[in-house]
Amino acid sequence: GMEERLQKVLAAAGIASRRKCEDLILQGRVKVNHQTITQLGHKVSDSDHIEVDGKPISREKFVYFLFHKPTGVITSLNDPQGRKIVTDFFKEVKQRVYPVGRLDYDTSGLLLLMNDGELANQIAHPRFEIDKVYIATVKGYPSEKTLERLRKGIILEDGPTAPAEAKLLEMDEKKGQAVIELTIHEGRNRQVRRMCQTVGHPVIKLKRVRLGFLTLGELKMGEYRPLTAKEVQQLK
Ligand code: URA
Repeated sequence: GMEERLQKVLAAAGIASRRKCEDLILQGRVKVNHQTITQLGHKVSDSDHIEVDGKPISREKFVYFLFHKPTGVITSLNDPQGRKIVTDFFKEVKQRVYPVGRLDYDTSGLLLLMNDGELANQIAHPRFEIDKVYIATVKGYPSEKTLERLRKGIILEDGPTAPAEAKLLEMDEKKGQAVIELTIHEGRNRQVRRMCQTVGHPVIKLKRVRLGFLTLGELKMGEYRPLTAKEVQQLK
């Protein structure tokens, strides 16, 4: 494979900045194939084993995917009940990817999977406040007053919800149900289901259609695509 300078490989693995990695090499703290290397020009390939202070570094390259999660699939990495899990769809991906945040078993829609732990934590963190847009089919017909309650915030068991956007999209008079679009900026457990339940309109069907600037586009359920380098940059 391709050979690269040791300090560049160390920096790419998230050890430290390129400059700090040069210091680590000069200080004799870096080994390649169990031999201490103190020259800055040293070139390494993919197959070389690299350690810093006796600890092996990860040589995996970062990969990022946008997945259209089907219903009937769980977001955790294993299931004692043997149900289908999201990573079952990523068997042909060499890297071990994991989901960013969660979607319920019965919820479909946009889910990111990646092996970049730092970015994953950043996106999942409540302070990131990325828009999460859901289309919910609910029982009954929410009134304008009810939508206003959802917008302003309602009290759930774990505290009040932050301001949200809520729009009525459709009413199905035959089925006695409506379709609403809810945009939230938090990501609490089963939040949309609990919000709708609390205002008297239990969720029948739920789909996440947007996360920040990312949408599902033409992806069908069960399909995924890699994020472009530009999209990854925009998320950071
Ligand atoms: N809110 C929910 O209730 N469920 C999800 O899967 C996502 C958001």
